[in-house]
Amino acid sequence: MPLLRQHPWVFSGAIKITEGEAKDGDTVEVFSADKKFLGIGHYQVQNSITVRIISFEQVAIDEVFWLNKINKAYAYRTYVGITNNPNTNVYRLFFGEADGLPGLIVDYYNGHVVIQCHTVGMHRNVEHIAKAIKEVYGTQLKTIYDKSKETLPKNYAINITNGFMLGDAGNTIVTENDFSFYVDWEKGQKTGFFIDQRENRKLLAEYVKDKTVLNTFCYTGGFSVYASTAGAKEVYSVDVSKSAMEITDKNIELNKLSNHQSFCADTFDFLKDKKDVYDVIILDPPAFAKSRDVKHNAVIGYKRLNEMALRLIKHNGILFTFSCSGVVDKNLFFNTINAAVYESGRRVKILHYLTQPADHPISPNFSEGEYLKGLVLYVE
Ligand code: SAH
Repeated sequence: MPLLRQHPWVFSGAIKITEGEAKDGDTVEVFSADKKFLGIGHYQVQNSITVRIISFEQVAIDEVFWLNKINKAYAYRTYVGITNNPNTNVYRLFFGEADGLPGLIVDYYNGHVVIQCHTVGMHRNVEHIAKAIKEVYGTQLKTIYDKSKETLPKNYAINITNGFMLGDAGNTIVTENDFSFYVDWEKGQKTGFFIDQRENRKLLAEYVKDKTVLNTFCYTGGFSVYASTAGAKEVYSVDVSKSAMEITDKNIELNKLSNHQSFCADTFDFLKDKKDVYDVIILDPPAFAKSRDVKHNAVIGYKRLNEMALRLIKHNGILFTFSCSGVVDKNLFFNTINAAVYESGRRVKILHYLTQPADHPISPNFSEGEYLKGLVLYVE
């Protein structure tokens, strides 16, 4: 049984009987058929995952429980050199299942924290979570913003608003590997910034000197800033969102760069009309598949996109290609890229297999958490 291997999801089909009246967001205990305790979790009715386990031990779910969870996540990130890095003050403090609380995301932006709850049970405890975060950071913490409205189930989300639980700042400037980025958690996508690409951006910098670089799905220009600074001849950034492109321009300015041009466009249209060729292309699209039902369409999308990009890369060029769809696993993604390579008629070599950084930990007992996959290809 997956629960015995500490996989934290209990699917509806695995539940034989429910004692009492459990409602959405309730904290419930789970037992095996022979009445052995298995875990405590949050109940969610209209979901194939009925219970998400928050504790495999029979403990009280009180203030101490929440504090321990946040403390542990903070201590781990301190151990791996993330909370105390003089060059970087932006990181994910809490990453759901891998940190022991399914449905909870907490991002840290230079003294400001954004909470995103994905389950009703987690949101019903948001006050406890905020209190624990305040205790861990002490007076250095300026803001806690709860941005759960867009990530919670719709029937619950209609009754809540996003809001400040401490302070009132809606944006700040963060430092990532010594680069400056403007982050707007109130108006931006997700919690405001794609923190998970930190290491991959750093790697890109090694391949761009004197090169022409195209960064598609650029959002706030993370890869573009690294490439421009690392001596690229020219960097072109593309995103369909006008506000994302405005922040990209702001970030280019913040880092005092000039070898850069912005394009507000759909990447597929932009690539289709292009005759230019690039030395380096970055493809970091949004999750094409958010559920299993649309996995097939997502694969077609990834294949088409990668094939288009491969055709536009100069000889001896580089492709950085990513997928952040949880339901498209590593093997499926790599096979899809392989198919795109074949269709494009190019020959490639794999230089790097990429994934998410240590502040987005991956647990062997929860492979679903390994959502970011990437490849760096040398294109002959
Ligand atoms: N690479 C970025 C994160 C990408 S998130 C970073 O390092 O920060 C995905 C981005 O794709 C979002 O900004 C979204 O606005 C954009 N997007 C979604 N569909 C698009 C499309 N068809 N063409 C261009 N951009 C698109």
